[in-house]
Amino acid sequence: MPLTGKHSNWLEIDRGAIEANVRQCLERTGAQVMAVVKANGYGHGIVPLARAAVRGGATWCGVARVEEAIELRRAGIDGPILILGATAAGRVQEAIGERISMAVWDLGHVEAAAAATNGTNERARLHLKVETGMGRLGIEPEEAVALARRIASTPGVILEGVFTHFARADESDPEPTAAQERQFAQVLASLEAAGLRPGLVHAANSAASLSRPSATFNLVRAGIAICGLNPSPECPLPEGFRPALAWKAQLSQVRLMPPGRGVSYGHQYVTRSTERIGVAPVGYGDGYRRVPGNQVLVGGRSVPVVGRVCMDQIMVQLDSVPEARAGDEVVLIGEQAGQRISVDDLAARWGTFNYEVVCGLSARIPRVYRG
Ligand SMILES: *Cc1c(COP(=O)(O)O)cnc(C)c1O
Repeated sequence: MPLTGKHSNWLEIDRGAIEANVRQCLERTGAQVMAVVKANGYGHGIVPLARAAVRGGATWCGVARVEEAIELRRAGIDGPILILGATAAGRVQEAIGERISMAVWDLGHVEAAAAATNGTNERARLHLKVETGMGRLGIEPEEAVALARRIASTPGVILEGVFTHFARADESDPEPTAAQERQFAQVLASLEAAGLRPGLVHAANSAASLSRPSATFNLVRAGIAICGLNPSPECPLPEGFRPALAWKAQLSQVRLMPPGRGVSYGHQYVTRSTERIGVAPVGYGDGYRRVPGNQVLVGGRSVPVVGRVCMDQIMVQLDSVPEARAGDEVVLIGEQAGQRISVDDLAARWGTFNYEVVCGLSARIPRVYRG
């Protein structure tokens, strides 16, 4: 039977879901939303995720790296963008020219930004990153005011925002996040007292946006929530959010194999009787993990992946779906006839968490956008 459609395996991304998820974030927090679209938009496609989020009301986009920010600008995304990580010195000038805001946490960054504006009438927009307990990037709280003062007195640079990042906002115990918030509040009070508090203050990721109203300030940075995925099992999304991504394929072949037939590399699986085996064109080259115990949906039933996952293909045991034919839909993530495999299900099977599953979806998988 000939295959229909254009792709062997593909991602279906529902832009309407992304828009609706952003609206949920806006309504629940009452703050501005920065759509965090790093890592190819959590696998959803950086530009389409950003565009859909902006349509849903996000006023900012957040990225990890300058390359991502430039990609958004090239695609015509014109609103404010913040690089959350370090900007390589060699690209600071380009970032400033593109009106891209940058995170800073030491004097070197400030001087590099100021130097890049020398002789121009451009202004570098800086967000001071304060380390309050993430144990990652940032300036120590007690040094923040001094750096803010330097920024205020340096020509060519503007202190546009101040921010921090939570390490444990997705856990049920609120205390570690409360402790970080107290540290941050002290920094804000000192900035205020010195007349240096900038217009934008942000701390909350998706988890904190949804669970800590006191941490929303005037901007929240939401990534996983706008994709409609849970920040963690302890911090599930409330009612009203919905996942935007499904992963599908088409069976390329279905046949009966006689007993004793080895399936895939290493013959880890050997047919015990005459078995119906299907082949689907998806593999670890697409980000589908080579672990035992995978399940997919075919014909509205959950069926086991048998034998090793290959680079471009998997084999599935279809005895429970005798009507299965080449060309039939295979669901790796998503719904089929009322059955569902969530990103969380796959993450559990793979011994990881949902963020890593979607970020691991290879660039080679075609993305099909709807809505
Ligand atoms: C990735 C990231 C976010 C978004 O986190 P989610 O949990 O996906 O909402 C927010 N802030 C910073 C600094 C980040 O690195």
